[in-house]
Amino acid sequence: MRVLILSDIHANLAALEAVLEDAEQFDYEEVWCLGDVVGYGPNPNECIEQLRRLPTRLVCVAGNHDWAVLGRLDIADFNLEARQAVEWTRRQLRADHRAWLEELPDYPLIRGRFTITHGSPRHPIWEYILTPSVAHSNFEYFDTPYCLVGHTHVPVIYQLVQDESDKREHCRALVPTQEHPIALAGPHRLILNPGSVGQPRDSDPRAAYALLDLKEELWIHRRVAYPIELTQARMREAGLPERLILRLSYGW
Ligand code: ZN
Repeated sequence: MRVLILSDIHANLAALEAVLEDAEQFDYEEVWCLGDVVGYGPNPNECIEQLRRLPTRLVCVAGNHDWAVLGRLDIADFNLEARQAVEWTRRQLRADHRAWLEELPDYPLIRGRFTITHGSPRHPIWEYILTPSVAHSNFEYFDTPYCLVGHTHVPVIYQLVQDESDKREHCRALVPTQEHPIALAGPHRLILNPGSVGQPRDSDPRAAYALLDLKEELWIHRRVAYPIELTQARMREAGLPERLILRLSYGW
């Protein structure tokens, strides 16, 4: 079975549509979404609608922006632009879409050998796994071999490895590329981040996602060009903050 892994769509419909079109070739049977469906972007309702209309089974957890829009966390900790985007999204969101967001779990889900969460298994909504040391300390918070996270908008794979000499465990980061799928089979436990569909932050402005091939035990990292200027025009029309519009061009 193949699974389409999406994260941090952030109401960017043009990016989501490009990803779904690119992913068609893989014949996936499920979609796992790691949260932050809304926030920042101009099409929160359309993005939720796309996810709800998927012909496959959808598994989705809540992200911090989804919660912020629902008023479940204090947005004083958000920067000014993120706060403005949250407030704009609240005004746009249809009641049934709000209800859909409210149903998203704020705890990690388990599917087979995978734990699925937004930030980290330790703090599902909030924690950023940006370094091998933070990743390392999170391995004791899940029981499956693999954990999928989003939230940082940076594609990365953290691998728990045992040192040959002193047998101590340490953690190393691998940057996935489209050309080299990562084999999951093996002795290493992994924390995998597919990157962000709607607001990449690794200096590559193309939408990022991953394809998980459970039969071949492969993690396939994908990048897809999408009409960034279309999303930017929609954001300008909506009056969303200029800094959020510009950063899409740089993938940061
Ligand atoms: Zn996010």
